[in-house]
Amino acid sequence: MADTIFSKIIRKEIPADIVFESDTILAFRDINPMAPVHILIIPKQPIAYTTEIDGKRDAPLLGELFDAANKIAKEQGIDKNGFRLVINCGDNGGQEVPHLHMHLLGGRKMKWPPG
Ligand code: 5GP
Repeated sequence: MADTIFSKIIRKEIPADIVFESDTILAFRDINPMAPVHILIIPKQPIAYTTEIDGKRDAPLLGELFDAANKIAKEQGIDKNGFRLVINCGDNGGQEVPHLHMHLLGGRKMKWPPG
């Protein structure tokens, strides 16, 4: 996988406002927040797109991503009123950074359908 801005954040070569870190997961505030709480949750391993995920092989990692999202949502105080988790994939999905990431958005009422 090509090196991305997120690889540099994982290696601490560029700063980020990190809210959670484990051996396998990193979560940090989005530099251009679309909601009062906007956090990116990423696996440290180099997966670019959701299409690279194998459900059986990657089940533990996916579980960790969701566990992290729920833990952070609680810490940020958005678990009671609800929040949105978004994973963009590829051009049509609006993915700008080719390193798998889950957006955790909350703190306001979300609209549907998305743009
Ligand atoms: P995507 O469009 O790929 O789903 O989302 C990429 C997200 O990464 C965008 O919301 C964008 O604001 C965020 N982003 C891009 N560069 C940086 C950066 O250097 N630091 C942080 N914290 N977020 C970034």
